Amino acid sequence: MAATAAGMRTRATRRATAIGDDTLDPPVSPKHRRILAIVGTDRTFEPSRHGIEPVWVGACIFCRSPLTIAANGRPISRATIEHIWPQRHGGDNTLTNLALACGTCNRGKGGRHDHKPKNDPRLLEIVADLRRRRAERWREPPPELAAHVAWARKASGDDDATDGDDDLV
Ligand SMILES: [Zn+2]
Repeated sequence: MAATAAGMRTRATRRATAIGDDTLDPPVSPKHRRILAIVGTDRTFEPSRHGIEPVWVGACIFCRSPLTIAANGRPISRATIEHIWPQRHGGDNTLTNLALACGTCNRGKGGRHDHKPKNDPRLLEIVADLRRRRAERWREPPPELAAHVAWARKASGDDDATDGDDDLV
């Protein structure tokens, strides 16, 4: 299994370089940059093509349905930034607290659990599960995404970050 993962990563790195070479659009907003930083640290995201456009395709943190992100960070499929520990309870923009979710899952969690008190057992259970999934997916970013990851690390905690709580993006 480890050998398979290593092989996939090698292929991903090679194709990711191709994406970097023909990407002309810079990220258009801090939110898109943050999305690229999440993509960079989530090994489910691999380089692919959407028509002729180079993209990243990975999995929703909840349901694993495919999420497609343009090379400049713009979501092509419906994707949202998920705060694993909810912002309403003080969750911040550190990368380990962020994941990408499809709109359906993000709304579902928001509707059912984010409003619960921060010591609610079900909320804590969901958060623990998401943290475990995020940790399992963690990777050091491929070279073309390293700058976005560095930016997001530096920017986390900035109060003027433009993304609201789990907005559709
Ligand atoms: Zn989902």
